[in-house]
Amino acid sequence: MTKEIAIEVRDLQKEYHVGDEVVVALHRINLCILRGEICCIFGTSGSGKSTLLNQLAGMEKPSRGGVIVNGVPISLLDEEQLAAFRQKNIGFIFQSYNLLPSLTATENVALPLMFRGVDRQVREKAANELLSRVGLAGRLSHYPGQMSGGQQQRAGIARAFVSRPSIIFADEPTGNLDTKTTAEIMQMMTAFARRYRQTIILVTHDPEMAKYADRIVTLIDGRIVSDTKGDRIE
Ligand code: ADP
Ligand code: MG
Repeated sequence: MTKEIAIEVRDLQKEYHVGDEVVVALHRINLCILRGEICCIFGTSGSGKSTLLNQLAGMEKPSRGGVIVNGVPISLLDEEQLAAFRQKNIGFIFQSYNLLPSLTATENVALPLMFRGVDRQVREKAANELLSRVGLAGRLSHYPGQMSGGQQQRAGIARAFVSRPSIIFADEPTGNLDTKTTAEIMQMMTAFARRYRQTIILVTHDPEMAKYADRIVTLIDGRIVSDTKGDRIE
């Protein structure tokens, strides 16, 4: 398989200024993530995982250095260009699911396609197909409040994958779920990504997640302290 680069991080520094204090959340990070890689960003609370993920997804500007995603130097894009870039290239899965409470499962999953201007009928058909694949065929017109956490996260996965983004960012996606549901969710995510050679950046503090990853990048205090192979068997 040819090795295409999905994400390249060059000398990335992120500082937050809080009053007179400067918090250096990321120290001079260099990292290269390949297309199709399932990469776990691992570390304890406060180690800089979410900050790094926000940088990789272009949610925040770096203090120094930059990030190149699919060949595009995203650190140089303005807000409008970034929004368009994310819409086309990136899917998100959140710890708190982030489904809109007033929309049904179908409508929530169809949302990324709506932003892309896809017709209602077409996008809802695609959404329902994906919802079936995550085992929610019987919950299409349910609202998030009518679903369990595991069901909501399965809808979250369907929403992240529906537009076939090349990169999926997941920040503690199983943080609110029990062990059995966690395994189901992780298997679903990795199976989808495998199939279309999508890249997953998975942020977690749970060492168990290594078994789903190709690679584990460990952060301590905003620095990469190790970069090793995961337990996932090819
Ligand atoms: P993690 O996701 O690994 O728990 P974070 O990336 O959220 O860690 O935080 C890394 C460090 O940066 C912490 O010391 C945190 O307090 C600090 N930090 C994160 N976001 C901000 C912010 N918006 N303003 C100030 N400090 C922040
Ligand atoms: Mg975090």
